Amino acid sequence: MRASESTNLYFQQAADHLKMPEWLRKLLLTPKREVTVQVAFERDNGMIETVQGFRVQHDNSRGPMKGGLRYHPAVDLDEVRALAALMTWKTAVVELPYGGAKGGIGIDPKTLSKKELERMTRVFVNEIHEIVGPDTDIPAPDMGTNFEVMSWFRNQWEKYHGFNPAVITGKPVEEYGARGREEATGRGVGIMAVKLLKRLNVRPDQCRTAIQGFGNVGSHAAKFLVESAFPVIAVSDLSGTYFNAKGLNISEMLSYSIKNGNQLTGYTGAERLPAEALLELDVDLLIPAALGDVIHKKNAKSIKAKTIIEAANGPVDPEADEILKARNITILPDILANAGGVTVSYFEWVQNRQHYRWSLDRVRQELDRTMSDAFENVWQQASNQRVSLRTAAFMLAISRVQRATELAGSSL
Ligand code: NAD
Repeated sequence: MRASESTNLYFQQAADHLKMPEWLRKLLLTPKREVTVQVAFERDNGMIETVQGFRVQHDNSRGPMKGGLRYHPAVDLDEVRALAALMTWKTAVVELPYGGAKGGIGIDPKTLSKKELERMTRVFVNEIHEIVGPDTDIPAPDMGTNFEVMSWFRNQWEKYHGFNPAVITGKPVEEYGARGREEATGRGVGIMAVKLLKRLNVRPDQCRTAIQGFGNVGSHAAKFLVESAFPVIAVSDLSGTYFNAKGLNISEMLSYSIKNGNQLTGYTGAERLPAEALLELDVDLLIPAALGDVIHKKNAKSIKAKTIIEAANGPVDPEADEILKARNITILPDILANAGGVTVSYFEWVQNRQHYRWSLDRVRQELDRTMSDAFENVWQQASNQRVSLRTAAFMLAISRVQRATELAGSSL
């Protein structure tokens, strides 16, 4: 199933519950604008490399559009379109005053030198600078991009439009970035786990947890969960699964991974299993925090966890979603579970616009409040309507975008 098909399927399921007319579904599903540009940049050897860059602006009825920039060989218009729509629903479910967008370039950034990466980013900005801005569309980091790419982007955009760091988020902390942005997505996942388990009447210390992926999201989620008394008994990365039935030493693993190029290869403080073993371990809570579509119809029946929190984007495909639902496995959907990153991006934008700096404590408090309120709303919606948490989250998000569209009135 193509990426945009699964996003739209979840949308349609929620729209059915809302009895939404066909014309409105079409209006909400059709992106406002899709831009494909030529990005021609000089390689270090003097040759010109030509790649395609994309920016899809899905919806701006609730505010300026917001969404990351992804540099990855699989980036194409279809993927960017699906991710842009997902951002519209994500910002709506946590009630940020934003719409949704996404962009990217179909290239593997690891094949570029730092200078090439910078030149490519600046050419991309030259091509799209007129359609992005602090009041229209605000990019952020995503797969294959980082705080340095954000700095180059901002610097190039400001050459056209003047000083305005709010044009992009995920900037370095010393360059108008927000404290706490790096940990935000993983921390948000942890906050959601605490809320969800409380609702399910499971004590954290009795919730054996496995996390797939020990990168930005997985490692910060693991740290927060251990601090909240959850026994994290397995984590995996590309190098394998690391297991200890009594609970892993996450702070030791974090230091090891940082010193080891963000990988756990060679870590000997736990039992080693193959990477693919993690998903089917006998645990209470499973947190996929690596890739999309890792739980599918072939392995959905073998999942033993009773609860899944989708930290990655789209880790459970729609066929698996049905199988897991039938098995009464509770899934907290990505549009809520991993919204901590965009939430703190919003805080960064707010601080930039006010020329004011928040403390780390304030960022954490506001993140907790925003995510917890969103969780309670989704939980109530699911209980009242007797639908899954995913359908409830989509229903809330879609109704908010629908309401904003209707309030805009004649602009239609
Ligand atoms: P990352 O690149 O920092 O980490 C990815 C981790 O997954 C690495 O540890 C890698 O080794 C591991 N991994 C890759 N393939 C694997 C496999 N087959 N088995 C086990 N582990 C594997 O990425 P990230 O920023 O942590 O993002 C993870 C997911 O969360 C992605 O789906 C991303 O789209 C989503 N997400 C990230 C953010 C954010 O703020 N970083 C926000 C929202 C959603």
